[in-house]
Amino acid sequence: MPTVSSMLENKGRHVWTIGPDQTVFDALLDMAEHGVGALVVVEHDQVVGILSERDYARKIILFNRTSRTTLVREIMTAPVVTCGLDWDAQRCMRVMTERRFRHLPVLEDGRLAGIVSIGDVVKSIIQDQQFTIEQLAAYMQMAPAG
Ligand code: AMP
Repeated sequence: MPTVSSMLENKGRHVWTIGPDQTVFDALLDMAEHGVGALVVVEHDQVVGILSERDYARKIILFNRTSRTTLVREIMTAPVVTCGLDWDAQRCMRVMTERRFRHLPVLEDGRLAGIVSIGDVVKSIIQDQQFTIEQLAAYMQMAPAG
């Protein structure tokens, strides 16, 4: 079963972050520019929240707010559920499914060390299963017919 550590080897450890006192409009621009669905909110080197497109969809227009005057801290989710490098894909999937979100920031020694999305987790599971299938197929070709 793939681990968070192996997932980050493939995708890299960079995380797009934003400060809590920046506007939601700035956050949306950043998400669009970088092609991501969530930003980790960092203040004084500490993870203090997470903001995803869903927060915008559910907490701005429906509450008569505007993204240009609302601060990230007003609609971000806190505390953030995080994972460790040693977590396996199944554990990540379980937490994301149970808590109904699609992003898990990774902490190493209390510091932000990456982020995995549900897409990264699904991809790693499919690759792992593909590998197992190929190994079984090779084994079956080698084994004498009985
Ligand atoms: P998502 O499905 O990741 O776009 O997020 C759905 C909701 O869950 C949004 O309100 C996010 O702010 C929140 N959320 C996403 N990831 C996390 C996380 N790791 N810990 C806590 N809340 C989160």
